[in-house]
Amino acid sequence: MRTQRQVVDYSLQKRAVLRELLAGRVGTYDVCDASPYLKNAARFHGEPTERRCPICRSENLTLVHYIYGDELKQSAGQARTLVELPVLAMTLREFQVFVVEVCLGCDWNHLVEQYLLGRDGLTGDGDSAHEQDVAAAEGVGRRRREAQR
Ligand SMILES: [Zn+2]
Repeated sequence: MRTQRQVVDYSLQKRAVLRELLAGRVGTYDVCDASPYLKNAARFHGEPTERRCPICRSENLTLVHYIYGDELKQSAGQARTLVELPVLAMTLREFQVFVVEVCLGCDWNHLVEQYLLGRDGLTGDGDSAHEQDVAAAEGVGRRRREAQR
């Protein structure tokens, strides 16, 4: 995605969890604990993949994209389909996306990556311009919060 930035990849952590599991230091109950909310999000907003679940190896993994950010207001913390993200990215300045993989067979779930999306990523040319935008946005946010008091 064009405005994607500050990507954090959690595949090392995932491999560490799988190693612990293989070594018997954690049980499958500890890692296969997807909540009903997460599973519903996977069913209704999830992105199917061709990758097999590393635990049960019988189901393919589903990716769930959770969005967070002040601009989202009551939508913050909700799951969105992958096709909805570019639309949001053109509408909002900045929001955080958390990608979680889920197995609907055995309830395995793990954070895959996180990144930022939003129009602020389009001002690619100077970091200083971006910082000014962020500072301005924070100023607006502060004034708004003060006005609410
Ligand atoms: Zn599984």
